[in-house]
Amino acid sequence: MIRIGQGYDVHQLVEDRDLWICGIKIPHTHGLSGHSDADVAIHALCDAILGALALGDIGKHFPDTDPRYKGIDSKILLSHVMKLVNDKGYRLGNCDITICAEAPKFRPYIDRMRETLADVMGVSADQVSVKATTTEKLGFTGRREGIASMAVCLLTKCNP
Ligand code: MG
Repeated sequence: MIRIGQGYDVHQLVEDRDLWICGIKIPHTHGLSGHSDADVAIHALCDAILGALALGDIGKHFPDTDPRYKGIDSKILLSHVMKLVNDKGYRLGNCDITICAEAPKFRPYIDRMRETLADVMGVSADQVSVKATTTEKLGFTGRREGIASMAVCLLTKCNP
């Protein structure tokens, strides 16, 4: 049995914040604002996985009103979501993430992002795809006001 999930997230770019994407810190003039480390790509991925399990969304599991999650490393949230996958008797088939941002250039970091996420999820890097695109200077991402991320995943039932 196969289950599909998709997720989407947006965070605002601001000064005086670190930029965390796919679990790694990326040098940039701006970072993303948010209650957690605001790792927009991991949040989209968590929502895709939760969606595949029909378990709600990241806001339900980790409310941004809860002080426990203030400044939290989103890799911790992802590992918790993966525990839910295991508890439900599923495993990750693959996932595919798209980051929409005008800047910075993510290409030099893509492989490290994939390895970092695979490590957290307990899967191999070839099950994890990360892509980045600009939006041709259009919209809020094009104006560098924020970064958006989309993710899809497939989960497969263990011993169906
Ligand atoms: Mg978010």
